[in-house]
Amino acid sequence: MSFPLPARPLRAARLLGPDPERPPSPGPSAAEIIEIAAAAGVRGRGGAGFPLAVKLRSVAAAAEPVRYVIANGEEGEPASAKDRFLLRERPGLVLRGLTLAARAVGAARAYVYVSDARAAHRLDEARDGDTVEIVRAPAAYVAGEETAVVRAVGGGPALPAAKPPRPWQAGLRGAPTLVSNAETLAQLALAVRLGPDAYRAYGTPESPGTFLATLSGAGTPAALYEVPYGVPLRELVTAHRGTADGVTGVLAGGFAGGLLPPAALGLPLTHAAFAEAGGTLGCGAFVLLAGDCPVGAAADVAAFFDRENARQCGSCVKGTAGVADVLARLAAGAATPGDVEQLERWGEALAGRGDCATPDAVSVLVGSLFRHHRDTVRAHVEGACARCAGFPVTADTRFRVSLEER
Ligand code: SF4
Repeated sequence: MSFPLPARPLRAARLLGPDPERPPSPGPSAAEIIEIAAAAGVRGRGGAGFPLAVKLRSVAAAAEPVRYVIANGEEGEPASAKDRFLLRERPGLVLRGLTLAARAVGAARAYVYVSDARAAHRLDEARDGDTVEIVRAPAAYVAGEETAVVRAVGGGPALPAAKPPRPWQAGLRGAPTLVSNAETLAQLALAVRLGPDAYRAYGTPESPGTFLATLSGAGTPAALYEVPYGVPLRELVTAHRGTADGVTGVLAGGFAGGLLPPAALGLPLTHAAFAEAGGTLGCGAFVLLAGDCPVGAAADVAAFFDRENARQCGSCVKGTAGVADVLARLAAGAATPGDVEQLERWGEALAGRGDCATPDAVSVLVGSLFRHHRDTVRAHVEGACARCAGFPVTADTRFRVSLEER
C-alpha cells in the first residue's frame, strides 16, 4: 500500500530518491560523524532548526558513561505528514541515521518513539536484530515534545516536564539523551553518505540541504515535497497548485508558526527569512489559505491547542483556554471590545510560559493575527462574519492533513 499523499521532489531528490547504500563497513568513527554533521550544517527538522552537531557534541562530551539516543517520530502537528512518510517509506534511512547518532554519542541503547501503527510495523521489519527498540507513543500533540518523549520512553506519562534539565543534560533514566526528529536523523544518514560538500550542493549556507514540506489547504489535495532550502515559497506553492494566485495567507511552519500574509509567498524557504517575518519554518508544514477568514482560521487552531494541551501549567489552563474562548466568540460575532483587548494581552503574556512550547505557539498565533489582520479582528466585533459562519470552530481542525489509507 502506498503512502496516502503524493510525494514529489522539487529540484532535488534525496529523501525521495532511491534509498542510499549503507556506508562502507565499519563506517565513520564517532568523531568523524560529528565532524560531518557540523561541516554539512545539518539542522533539526522538527521545529527549532537547531544544529545537530551541537546536540551530538553535548551528549558525546557528557561525563556520565551511559547515554541514550531517541528518534522522535511522534508527529503531533496536524498539518505535517513528513515524518510518517519517512518512517513508513524510508525506515532504513531513519534507522541508519539513528545508528550513526548512537555511535557518535556512545549511546548504550537506541529507541524509536512513534505513534503511527504502520510506521511502527515498517520499522520493525527494517531494524537489524534488537539493537533498536521501538516504543509506541500516544497520538497527541504534546507527546512529541522532547521531555514528554523521554518520560514516555522511560515508562512514564507522555507529558512535558519543566526545563532545565534538557534531555541532553539529564534525560532517560537521568542519563544524557539525544532526542532527535526522524527527518533530522535521515538527514544525518544522507550527510554521511554524500559528504559535507555534496550535502551543501543544495540549500543555502545557513540552511543547507533539502527538507520535506507538507502542503495543504486552498482547495488543493495535500502533498509532500522535497525542496532545497532557499527556494521561494511561491515556487513551491506554484508547483503544488499550478498557481499562487488566490492564496490569501499561510499558516507557515505548521500550527506553531502563526498566520502570515500573502507577502510571505515571496520569502525564501530559510530559517532566517521566516524568523525575520515573525514566523518559522518549523516542521515544514504549510497550510495555504484561500479566502478563509483569518479569525476563523485562528479560532480553529486555538481550539486545537486548547484541546491538546496537558492542562498542567497555568499558562494553558487560563491563557490558552481564554484565547480559544475569545477567538471562538469572535468568529461567532459574539465578542466585545474588552474581549479583544484581553486577547491581545494574553497573546503577549503567553510567550515563554509553561513547560512546553504550546503557550509560545498560541502567543505567535495571536500576535500574527493582530499584526496582519487587526482590521479584520475589529470587524468581527462590529458584526458576524459570513466566512466564519461557513466553518464552525472545532478542535478537530479542518486544517488537519488526512492520512486515511486509499
Ligand atoms: S505549557 Fe500547556 S501544553 Fe505545555 S506542558 Fe504546560 S499545560 Fe501542557
